[in-house]
Amino acid sequence: MSEKIEFELVGEESMVAFGRRLADASQGWGIIYLEGDLGAGKTTLSRGVLRGFGHEGAVKSPTYTLVEPYEMGESNVYHFDLYRLGDPEELDFLGVREYFGPHALCLVEWPIRGKGYLPAADIEVSITYKPDSRIVRVEPLSEHGQTICSHLLQGR
Ligand code: ADP
Ligand code: MG
Repeated sequence: MSEKIEFELVGEESMVAFGRRLADASQGWGIIYLEGDLGAGKTTLSRGVLRGFGHEGAVKSPTYTLVEPYEMGESNVYHFDLYRLGDPEELDFLGVREYFGPHALCLVEWPIRGKGYLPAADIEVSITYKPDSRIVRVEPLSEHGQTICSHLLQGR
């Protein structure tokens, strides 16, 4: 498996721009785990991804509903935030597994809370906080994940 790639992104707008690049690099499908503390920038990055798919409206963290679906013509993006998930078994009752189809892009905030009940990720994006910027590390975890990473490196 190839190496992690790392970026320093200064300011919210560069996080959004990175999300757009990630949307392109994903070719519209895959499973992306988003790691990082509260306030790291996971939802900001998700907004950028959604902008990349043409969604211009608001993007709020789906904290209470666990998942916010964005079904846009040919592209389906499912934005999860599992922060408030009590027991990962609930994921089965909620029927969320159906979202992880082959033709969708799934963004998952707080994947650790769903451990054992989520499909494996193609890439894991870890965001670390700095006062005026964020360090973003992208780790490929599948063949598709490696493709995503090589697209990201090309556009750097
Ligand atoms: P999370 O979903 O991880 O809790 P948010 O996406 O809500 O975090 O972002 C928290 C804050 O971080 C927002 O105010 C956003 O403007 C800021 N932020 C996001 N990315 C960056 C960045 N690259 N540099 C500086 N601030 C950022
Ligand atoms: Mg969030």
